[in-house]
Amino acid sequence: MLTSSESHRATEEGLWQRRWGKPPWRPETVPAVPLDLSRTEVAIVGGGFTGVSAAYHLARSGLRARVFEAGVFGDGASGRSGGIALQGTARGILPGTEHCVEKLKEVIDAEQIDCDPQLAGCWEIEHVQERGTSVLPWHDDGLAIRVKRSVDGGTVDPMALLAGLARAAARAGATFHEWAPVRKILCGAKPAVELDAGSVQAEYVVAALNAWTSPLLPEVRSVSSALTTACATQPLSAPTLAALGLGPGSCPFYTVDLPYLWGRMLGKSQVIFGAGLVFGAPSALEKVDIADEEPRRAMERLKGRVRGLHPALERVEFAAQWAGPVAIAEDFAPLLGRLPAAPSVIVAGGYSGHGVALSVWMGAAIAKAIAQGTELPAWGALTNEHRRA
Ligand SMILES: Cc1cc2nc3c(=O)[nH]c(=O)nc-3n(C[C@H](O)[C@H](O)[C@H](O)COP(=O)(O)OP(=O)(O)OC[C@H]3O[C@@H](n4cnc5c(N)ncnc54)[C@H](O)[C@@H]3O)c2cc1C
Repeated sequence: MLTSSESHRATEEGLWQRRWGKPPWRPETVPAVPLDLSRTEVAIVGGGFTGVSAAYHLARSGLRARVFEAGVFGDGASGRSGGIALQGTARGILPGTEHCVEKLKEVIDAEQIDCDPQLAGCWEIEHVQERGTSVLPWHDDGLAIRVKRSVDGGTVDPMALLAGLARAAARAGATFHEWAPVRKILCGAKPAVELDAGSVQAEYVVAALNAWTSPLLPEVRSVSSALTTACATQPLSAPTLAALGLGPGSCPFYTVDLPYLWGRMLGKSQVIFGAGLVFGAPSALEKVDIADEEPRRAMERLKGRVRGLHPALERVEFAAQWAGPVAIAEDFAPLLGRLPAAPSVIVAGGYSGHGVALSVWMGAAIAKAIAQGTELPAWGALTNEHRRA
């Protein structure tokens, strides 16, 4: 967690505060207001897609929602994401998640969010021994790469999506606070969040903390936190893109086997690639500088893989490189539910790198559960206690 003096310095330095490098997204700000300690109907902890989407859907249901973000909005996974919108969860389509991409599109269209949505599909790719149909002209790990199938999804500019969603939420009445780290979630019948300046009482608390869930809620089934690395090429010429089998409007892609690799077009001529994990507890990841040995080696490995994909990429230079936190659930089933001992506290996260469309859907599902008293889907135990029972 950043201290207040670090926060002040960081604010002066711009949007990307953590030392994890700068993603290529246009910096966007969220309409944040100074902190006060007045009570609220729903206190949301964490200002990524999950928290902001919950605030948007709650405010649209007429509930007073306040989002408390430790740093600046988007500086967790959401603003550092590759922006590939995927259907379902990392575990597959779990009940309720059949239409996450459609839900995302519905929100973008309803609020006219200018986030460059390209939702014509994604390529699932895999390594293969032999050349055959649907083979891309790439080599990775000594093997060819084939498009296994096209699936629902596409891409958005994640930072523009987050900021657009937050602006829509603010118009509907939600309130956003930056540099407001929650130190404790008080899980009583009337829950509250404890900040440096004091406590805010609420009817409900939503913990939308992704990789930072365990430090505040140790009773929640633990997820492994890690930094994953990504890089964006310099603009590539039209012949280079053609040689790669890519071009403006190409589908994003991700391997369905190992070694894992994902990527997408950035604008008309750049390509983003991502892969690699550096594991660590959230408190340790906060201190990581992308120039430190382990992330630097992960980044070099990724760039080496990209340069080896095709002779046309052999000398490619990179315009951006960055890392961001992922929260990997043991069985890839995301965390979602009410704490058994404190049902007014709702937890969502642990999307295992598959969270752009899912987290927006999660925010809507949580808002519905609070506003209408509906059940949340039960995908597995939320807490360790529950698992032991
Ligand atoms: C490099 C990278 C690329 C990715 N690419 C894709 C992709 O292409 N497609 C896809 O589907 N998924 C992708 N993901 C995953 C996706 O970005 C995440 O699943 C999603 O953004 C999670 O959103 P969230 O709101 O749950 O978490 P986050 O965006 O991480 O938000 C959690 C927030 O909580 C804040 N916080 C932490 N502690 C506190 C506290 N004590 N008090 C208040 N606030 C606190 C953090 O600062 C953070 O802003 C990627 C992730 C990374 C890192």
